Amino acid sequence: MILDQMPTLKINEIFHSIQGESSYAGAPTVFIRTSGCHLRCNYCDTTYAYQEGQQLELAQILETVKKFGSPYICVTGGEPLLQKQVLSLMTTLCDEGFFVSLETSGSLSCADVDSRVKLVIDVKTPDSGSAETFELENLSLKNRDIEWKFVLCSEKDLEWSENFCRQHVIFEKFMVLYSPSYRKIDPQWLAEKILQKKSPARLHLQLHKYIWSSETRGV
Ligand code: SF4
Repeated sequence: MILDQMPTLKINEIFHSIQGESSYAGAPTVFIRTSGCHLRCNYCDTTYAYQEGQQLELAQILETVKKFGSPYICVTGGEPLLQKQVLSLMTTLCDEGFFVSLETSGSLSCADVDSRVKLVIDVKTPDSGSAETFELENLSLKNRDIEWKFVLCSEKDLEWSENFCRQHVIFEKFMVLYSPSYRKIDPQWLAEKILQKKSPARLHLQLHKYIWSSETRGV
């Protein structure tokens, strides 16, 4: 397919920064933030991406990301999978030799995502404000590089996440990240709980929030 003939994607922003989440936290990364989200998490720090954005052709997106000279690309949102064209974008990025990760809420099927893409699935907990939105089909993904993330807003969320991972045999197969909701949950409290419970989950702090605010992120 000729890139110029490809459909467009609504993109909120493309920027170069330090990855704050997943096992690649700390890595210089180019972020492609798509516009639009059908969820409304109460801790959402990207509400500006619900509507704002501009339609860009894949060729324009590729040209922009290449300028940053980083091998790592994170496709995030919003919810990227709301736009089907994002599937072509990720495949093209992989074909171009980039290492690509996708941050998704897991509320839409990931089955058609290029198998070279690392999936970071942010399962919504009961107190997230977007409970019971998980697409169970995503538990059946085979031979995928997946990291499961849970942003915890309460002890109830912690219990729910533990049960979810044990019920679906996630701890045994994948990396699990427990992230304390920023300024709602004390990281030390969560660290102690993980140890008390002998949970295999990793304590996961959103690194970018400790480095800079969205206003100073810069590119
Ligand atoms: S899924 Fe992400 S972008 Fe959508 S409301 Fe929740 S935190 Fe915000």
